[in-house]
Amino acid sequence: MKFQKYFLITCIVMTCMTSTQAVASTDDRPSSDKRHKDTRQVKNFNGYSPAETQKWVDEAPNAPPKAFAVIPGEGSEGNTQCVASASKEQTEIDRKFLMRAIKLASHNPEQAMHGHTPDGGLFGAVLVKDGNILGEGWNTVLKEGDPSRHGEMNAVRQATHDHGHGLKDLEGATLYTSGAPCPMCYSTMAWANVKRIVYASDYSDAMKYGGFKDEPIRESLALPIQKRQWPGCQAESGLGRAWWKQYNAVVYKDGKGAKY
Ligand SMILES: [Zn+2]
Repeated sequence: MKFQKYFLITCIVMTCMTSTQAVASTDDRPSSDKRHKDTRQVKNFNGYSPAETQKWVDEAPNAPPKAFAVIPGEGSEGNTQCVASASKEQTEIDRKFLMRAIKLASHNPEQAMHGHTPDGGLFGAVLVKDGNILGEGWNTVLKEGDPSRHGEMNAVRQATHDHGHGLKDLEGATLYTSGAPCPMCYSTMAWANVKRIVYASDYSDAMKYGGFKDEPIRESLALPIQKRQWPGCQAESGLGRAWWKQYNAVVYKDGKGAKY
């Protein structure tokens, strides 16, 4: 069942982010000792207590009060890759907002747990600039029947449509997303000129536990467009170019083009 896969990856992600409980798999100490003696994990999480973490996570709007249960010992690897060279302060900020994104992602499997049809896949995202949340959201592809309704896209739409932010406001923001952004969302962040992207699960997780095809799309993009899994072919190239020339002359006048 796909939902069960959602639950599993959420547990892994939550464990990755949640605490001093996670331990190295090679450690054979009793579990009660592991939780208190693994100083590596304490360092990774920069001293955030589980209570502080839970408080922040629970503050995410429209999300259920309790996240999935954490599986001790799972997800302890790889959680410092993104922040290895960051300051402690930045690491703490990153972790807080990433936890919020993960909490938003849990909205969908929580719905399934309560017998409701989930809005979409296990993805949540938060756009942040200067410590302020510009917009946030979770995946609503199924609910809205719209393949572009990924968590990251919904975060952008909340920022721009609902909160009235403009393109300039998005510039320099940081995207926190529970899963590595798909090519569509990554491109949107590039168009928005965000500064950084911080994510928890990666493409292989999304494929293995959720059946999401982010990686095949990414691999396809590396090929010439005619050879991609979703191929394209150019037609009317002369007309297309002439059209651009007219646009440039009418809109920009100086011949330089836009700076998007
Ligand atoms: Zn996406």
